[in-house]
This record gives sequence, structure tokens and C-alpha cells, in this order.
Amino acid sequence: MIQSIAEIIQQGDGNGNYMQVRFRLPSGLEVLGLPTKNFYGGYWDLGPTWNYAILADSPFLMDTGRFGQGNKLTEMLDFSKISLKDLSFILISHGHEDHDGGLPELLHHYRIKVMAHSIYERLIKIYPKHAPRGYKETFPAKCWQCNMPEAFYKEHCLEYHQNLQDLHIECIEGGENEILPGVTTFHMPGHTPDSLAVMINQEVIIVGDILLPEISPIPTLVSQFDTVSTVLGSDYNDPVTIFGLCRYISSLKKLGELARQFPNLIVLPGHRLYYKEHWNHIDLPTRVNELIDHHVQRCGSIIDILKEFPMTDSQIANKHFEQKLLRDVGRHMAANEINSHCELLISSGDVAITDDSTYHLTGKNNFESFIDSILPI
Ligand SMILES: [Zn+2]
Ligand SMILES: [Zn+2]
Repeated sequence: MIQSIAEIIQQGDGNGNYMQVRFRLPSGLEVLGLPTKNFYGGYWDLGPTWNYAILADSPFLMDTGRFGQGNKLTEMLDFSKISLKDLSFILISHGHEDHDGGLPELLHHYRIKVMAHSIYERLIKIYPKHAPRGYKETFPAKCWQCNMPEAFYKEHCLEYHQNLQDLHIECIEGGENEILPGVTTFHMPGHTPDSLAVMINQEVIIVGDILLPEISPIPTLVSQFDTVSTVLGSDYNDPVTIFGLCRYISSLKKLGELARQFPNLIVLPGHRLYYKEHWNHIDLPTRVNELIDHHVQRCGSIIDILKEFPMTDSQIANKHFEQKLLRDVGRHMAANEINSHCELLISSGDVAITDDSTYHLTGKNNFESFIDSILPI
């Protein structure tokens, strides 16, 4: 159980904001949990971003919290008597702002090497010639498909976008990489195309947002590939290898495979490790199965909804989700959920889409065996 290896060295609030935890692993390795505040308002709350300092022979930091949290994270490290100068590098789990937003502030204090997947390095840049026309020309490629309203991105994103342009990234290529002795990264796209998990000493795996307790991480869409294909280059020319729900399930199955290979793996997620006054211990094989089941159920429920009549994504979302989840930002997230599942249902042959973006049933019912047949990569 996670509680048995966790020593709270600084209390936080009831959701774990700014608590500090020392995890002592069987090999003697210590990992510090450094959760920083991450709340945008509205009805969706992931809880704080859990950043981790891995106190290995070459110590490193995984993730930096959201934009504006870098100074706080520096203070938290100070409290544990860790100077930024002690860190060999910062590793970014994926290109969401709640994980890389604090980077510029940290680097302002001390210039540390930053490592991330090579897709991250490509997608944080601005490409005015390739960007969708209009205001997106000044957005990094990773934000081209984002549907957040102007009020949201004006408040949270514009300065952050600019700061990303100055980052120098040391790229991690390929699927599996031993970046230090005993430290292996795994490219596990699906939640984002650049998602990395990192396993240390075969006893702990830090998974970012690939797998979370209590929450099902939102998957990408295969169709998002089209907008960024020009900037990804020829190394990444097959959309389904880095985007979409099928790829996400494949990454989950890879985590399941690692769990079988290393049965005692401790899992440290990017959110909700501690939330509402309780710890969430992750039993990896169980959580992998729960998340895959969740997607099977959601596909089944979309099929049931479509039995009534053909519908658009927002019509399905209206029937599938509680109304309070469809307010503000939630509406975009809900449509994304429906579309990612419909893409899978189109691949399994159960659903088809017409030119006016209406989904309808084909009469087939293959999705469960289709999801079963997805291989771990
Ligand atoms: Zn994320
Ligand atoms: Zn996150």
C-alpha cells in the first residue's frame, strides 16, 4: 500500500495541495511527492499536479506543475533541502500545461537540462505558416486543436505559449529508452501523443496522466493528427500510432504487461494520489482493467444512445453526460470523449459517420472483441 511507504514531511490541504511526501522504496531509493495547485474553476477538478523528485544517483524532477507554480515548487524543493543545482535534469511527462507550465520559472532560477519526448519538442513550437488561420497562428502546435473559449486561453495560456518558445529540449526518441542506469522511459501515447512513463529500478513507475486513480484520462482523437502532421515530420506518419483511443488502450495494455513483469511496481500518478483526505493506492493490473472496462462501457452506451436515431457528437454528449458536466469547458471535453469513442466504433465497424458529421449504427456489434484484440505496444 502506498501509505506504508509514504512519510508526510509537510501537511497540505485536504486535496493534497502543497503537501510534501517522502516515498521510501524497498531498494532504498527515495522519491519526493510535490503536489502543486491546479484548479481552473468550473466543475472539473483533477486535484493538484503531482510532481516528483527522484533522488537517485543522478537526481531528477518529473514535471513542474501548471503555469505559475514553478516558484512554489522551488520553495518546496528548498524545504526538502534540494537545490535546483542538485538536479541532473527535469523530465516532462507530457505537454499539458498542468505538467510543463512551471518550467520557465524553474529555469529562470537555474538553467537545468530539460528532457521530453521528441514529439513534445516539435509540438511546443509556433509555426505561423502551418497553423490554422486566425488567432491560432500564435499558438504552439500542441494547442491548435484546443477548443477552449477565448476567455479561458486569454487568462491561462498566452504567456505560457510564449515561454515555451525559449525552451531547449533534449529529446527522447522511440518507444523504450534507458536514459540512466535503472531509469527507463516508455512512450505511451493516447492521452497525448508525447506521453512518457518512467520506471526506476523496476520498483516504481511514474505515469503522468496515462493512468490515474478515480479519473479516466481523456483520450486524444485520431483526427487531431491531420492538423499537426506537417510539423511532426516523416518519423511520425501513421496517425493511429500516436493519437486516439485505440492507441491509448494499447498504452494501458503495455502498463498491464509491465505489471505482470514486475508485480511489485509502485505506481505514482500525475493527479489524485491523495484527494479529499484519502490516499489512492493504485493496484496496476486492476486499474488497467477498470479503465479498459470503462471505455468498453462507454462504447456500449453510445451504441445504445444511437439506437434511437442518428446523432451528432453534441447530441450524444447531451444524452450521455449529466448536464452540470456539460457547462463551459466541460462541453468541449464531453464532445472530445464522444468523438474518440466513435472513432474506435468506426474502426470496429459498429458505427459510421455521414458527411454532415452524424453518427449512425451499422448493425454490427464488434467493439468488445475489437478492444480485446488491441495489442500492448
Ligand atoms: Zn494531461
Ligand atoms: Zn494533468
